[in-house]
Amino acid sequence: MIIDLKQLFTGRAEELEIDCALDFSDFEYQNNRPFLEPVRVRGKITAGANFLLLDAAADFIHHCACDRCLAQIKRPVQVRILHDLVSSLTEGDDSQVLIEGDKLDLGELVLEDLILNLPTKNLCREDCAGICHECGKDLNKGGCGCRAGRVDPRFKILRQLTDNTD
Ligand SMILES: [Zn+2]
Ligand SMILES: [Zn+2]
Repeated sequence: MIIDLKQLFTGRAEELEIDCALDFSDFEYQNNRPFLEPVRVRGKITAGANFLLLDAAADFIHHCACDRCLAQIKRPVQVRILHDLVSSLTEGDDSQVLIEGDKLDLGELVLEDLILNLPTKNLCREDCAGICHECGKDLNKGGCGCRAGRVDPRFKILRQLTDNTD
């Protein structure tokens, strides 16, 4: 979504309301499509002395897999979108976004912020038991018996060695 900022940069307007839904449903991240549903962006762009201030909030339903059991989960997340938009960059200021030709690609900017702020810890529930590394069973649905019968592979080799010398 491209927003024309000319009115703001030239001082003919002081504020621009933003209320839109962005579609990132095709975007893939870590083997998932985190933004299957539209991302709602609401806020405004205000004209300052030498820059424009973009202050908005992006609300979306984050789709991902549980870190432990890989079950698909989804939950609401909000990310603040806060940037100085400038027509020429000030050296050493990383928060600035350079606007070329008075056009802002809102989708590109928002997507970047969303990726940077995606939750890093994703569990279907706090006490998710995960899956068994031996047999792959979902341990939330009960034990698998692997743990009790497990023999350390190093001991297995030892046992074979001692068996051979008998
Ligand atoms: Zn889980
Ligand atoms: Zn198991």
